[in-house]
Amino acid sequence: MIDPWSSAILDYEKLIEQFGIKPFADVMGDIKDPNPLMKRGIIFGQRDYGKIVKAMRDGSSFAVVSGMMPSGKMHIGHKMIVDQLIWYQQNGADIYIPIADMESYSARGVDFETSRKLAISEYITNYIALGLDFQKKNIHTYLQSENKIVGDLAYLLARKVNLSEMKAIYGFSSSTNIAHLYVPLIQVADILHPQLEELGGPKPTVVPVGPDQDPHIRLTRDIAERFKSQLNFITPSSTYHRFITGLTGGKMSSSKPKTAIFLSDPPEVAEKKIKSAKTGGKESLDEQRKFGGVPEDCVVYEMLLYHLLPSHDQLRQLYHECKNGTIMCGECKNRASQLIREFFEDLSRKRVEAEHMAEKILNKTQNED
Ligand code: SF4
Repeated sequence: MIDPWSSAILDYEKLIEQFGIKPFADVMGDIKDPNPLMKRGIIFGQRDYGKIVKAMRDGSSFAVVSGMMPSGKMHIGHKMIVDQLIWYQQNGADIYIPIADMESYSARGVDFETSRKLAISEYITNYIALGLDFQKKNIHTYLQSENKIVGDLAYLLARKVNLSEMKAIYGFSSSTNIAHLYVPLIQVADILHPQLEELGGPKPTVVPVGPDQDPHIRLTRDIAERFKSQLNFITPSSTYHRFITGLTGGKMSSSKPKTAIFLSDPPEVAEKKIKSAKTGGKESLDEQRKFGGVPEDCVVYEMLLYHLLPSHDQLRQLYHECKNGTIMCGECKNRASQLIREFFEDLSRKRVEAEHMAEKILNKTQNED
């Protein structure tokens, strides 16, 4: 059983085998210009993605739903989601961004006012600064607690879900509070509501998630089937991305500051953090020259792979130089720290501009929805 509220690292291969997630490589050849995260194998799995490929190819309507749970600061690993949203926006998707304040309250005890403030000052600000275009018509951002369409749909859908099922999927026990028990239904409604008639009717919908969120996807797909004849839902698709490793190894987590580079870090702090990150280098320079390093086990390499080095050729070259022992970790870290400094200098400038826009955006989209 996967617990979507824990922070365990998962075995990706096992996940594919055990839960029927299909390799993303199966659909890669059909995508016109795949996102770099797809090309680099960071997005590794999918369910039913063929529907999305077809919609993009035909230029027909499709939606992307990607929630944010405002419970802490955004770190660089979260950038992956924004990069995907930008790519889908460029490919014509309707973008839905539920702000999961109800989940944040039920699972983490964060009150609604704090969630709202965090969503504006941290999440929406970063989404804008990273390049998501909130001026476009097809983007909808809302607080779960204020979206009546979603709330009503969740209640309607809950009629066909029972307690044993929720226990089996999420491992809920008799001491689980009722708000926590109910909130997955809100998430199901977040994913399915773009298909309601008032929002344009049934359409393929994709949810890009980390594999820990798969229980929500399975529940949503099952419920969509149960309501197919009543609401004409098209069973939603999903993609799965790898987590970024934390600076000390293990998973990067906002609740463990030593593991994370936060998007609000000043450039010099981000630079310092990458310089002290765990590498896949050997104990001594001699050993590294002789045996090479292990980029697969190196946080610095992962930062370059996920975020900092867009050129595939340069990345490939670095990989081989590391393996052959022709580049040492010091030089490599210097290069990565320069790139991260440039990235954070640019981001912090954009964050200042974005802060002014963030609140207006939430209010504007809230009124529209
Ligand atoms: Fe990582 Fe670079 Fe060292 Fe290789 S040379 S282990 S990629 S820091």
